[in-house]
Amino acid sequence: MLTFLFFGMYCNDLAAPEYFLFSSEVPALLYYSHFIAVISSLVMSFLVFSRGGYRSPASWLLGVSVVFSAWAVLDVITWVHIDARVIGLAWVFMNFLEPLIFAGMLFFVLSYLKGTHFRKWKLLAVSVLLLPFFVLMPTEFNITYFDITLCEAVEGPLVMYMYAFEVIMLAWIIFELVSYILHAHDSSRRRQLIVFLVGVLLFLVTFLAANASGSFTGDWNWQFYGLFGMPVFIGFLSYLIVRYKAFDIKLFETQVLVASLLILIASQFFFVRTFENIVLVGVTIVIAMFGGYTLIGTVQRDSQRTAELSILTNQLIKANERLKKLDEAKSEFISIASHQLRTPLTAVKGFISLVLEGSYGEVGPGVKNALNKVYLSNERLIQLVEDLLSISRIESGRMRYKLTEVDLNHLVREAYELFVIRARDKGLRFLYHQPNQLVQRIIADESKLREVLSNLVDNAIKYTESGTIDIYLEATSTHARIIVRDTGIGIDADEIQGLFSKFRRGKDTERFHANGTGLGLYVAKNLIESHKGRIWAQSEGREKGSVFIVELPFYADHSDLALDATTQDLSPEDRKINHLLQKH
Ligand code: ADP
Repeated sequence: MLTFLFFGMYCNDLAAPEYFLFSSEVPALLYYSHFIAVISSLVMSFLVFSRGGYRSPASWLLGVSVVFSAWAVLDVITWVHIDARVIGLAWVFMNFLEPLIFAGMLFFVLSYLKGTHFRKWKLLAVSVLLLPFFVLMPTEFNITYFDITLCEAVEGPLVMYMYAFEVIMLAWIIFELVSYILHAHDSSRRRQLIVFLVGVLLFLVTFLAANASGSFTGDWNWQFYGLFGMPVFIGFLSYLIVRYKAFDIKLFETQVLVASLLILIASQFFFVRTFENIVLVGVTIVIAMFGGYTLIGTVQRDSQRTAELSILTNQLIKANERLKKLDEAKSEFISIASHQLRTPLTAVKGFISLVLEGSYGEVGPGVKNALNKVYLSNERLIQLVEDLLSISRIESGRMRYKLTEVDLNHLVREAYELFVIRARDKGLRFLYHQPNQLVQRIIADESKLREVLSNLVDNAIKYTESGTIDIYLEATSTHARIIVRDTGIGIDADEIQGLFSKFRRGKDTERFHANGTGLGLYVAKNLIESHKGRIWAQSEGREKGSVFIVELPFYADHSDLALDATTQDLSPEDRKINHLLQKH
């Protein structure tokens, strides 16, 4: 039995003992070493625990911290109390808690390495080894008697067993960690484990060594230093766990920073002796707490927003991908549908022409008139299909160009000749103003330029009720210009730019000319820009006519154009050009 508990004995004869904080009898390092260790370990392990939860190594860490803190508080009591019964009782419990710290550390390490499901036999084995502490704690095997002159408990054989137990735990921890380090797959995991091992050793070895040196030499002053291992260990260990578990490091770091700052300021309490200074430190702590709280809040909100943003971004990326697929499917559909439409339309056109020419016998004027209308409608349909095909090619990036040397003089004249009858039929004056001297050839896809030009002239005729249509071909030193001018319905200034967009028609266009899709200028703009040229419109306003201008450079770099693979129908010279451009 612990007989000293029954005698009232005092270690010194201070009448009014000032135990805590201000007693000059108490070594200055005592509070500092103990409370820093306690506060830092509790704060850090709570922080880590709050992120990791019950089912993580963090719960073992928290357990170790709590037991360690209890041990440290009891240790402070053994230093500052004068009642031998209190000191002795604290000592008894400390010798019980100390092995628990080591056992807890082993399980912390095991759960860190293997997850919480480590083998049950390990738990059982350690429990069996811990049994003597439970049984023998309240006996002389633990504390034999109390030496009142030294004011120290005299330890029994259980303490020897305690150190042996601690060494076993330490060896076990080292064994587990080293074998994991040796078998680690990647270097980052290995580095992690090495840091972990060093942290554990720093704490346990210093703690064990400091306590054992007290037990064996009777000089307990080393014990203070043994406790510093704890905050160091907790510090980088918490970081490792959080990092390993990939939690929000930024937030955690801020919390750690604020916590360490507060601990540092609070530690001043153990040194300052005057009232003014205590107040000052108190005020500083309050300010630091407020600042820290705000900072953590900001970082928390920030990281929350970042997380929300990344979720939204992901959703956006997915939605975008879906849209892209849908768009591709749409282009694909248009392309297929247009191809299928083109063939019968061409057949219709051919047969109507044959009927009109009289290949199937004489046709009366009434039928001829009707067939002419069918022919025109069919032409519009063909144009629409062509435009849709062009759009689907442009938008899916499948537009191919057959580059040749193009004679613009010839091209513009050809367009003029193609439309002159139609213009005259409508009662319009139609003029081609040739350039004073021949315009030099340019490298371009002739059929695309023809398409653009036809569209401009066709529009001019379509949107002009009476008056004149003029076509000009001009050249500067660097560019060729084709200008189509009409005296038609004109365009409002605010509509000019928009007309080059897809499906866009002028506000009143429907009234003048119901037929139209609003695709021609969009396709034209795309084709001209692929040739590194420009196309734009000018108009003084409604009823004031319009001018459409196409500008093409003589020397453009077309190396970015996707070339048509079918170059066999090109002249040898053109093929050379294509070849050169493709190589470029
Ligand atoms: P569409 O002629 O089939 O409607 P376009 O893309 O060729 O499609 O033209 C787009 C619009 O630009 C026309 O609907 C019309 O409002 C306007 N536009 C084009 N050319 C002229 C012109 N010469 N005069 C007045 N408006 C024009």
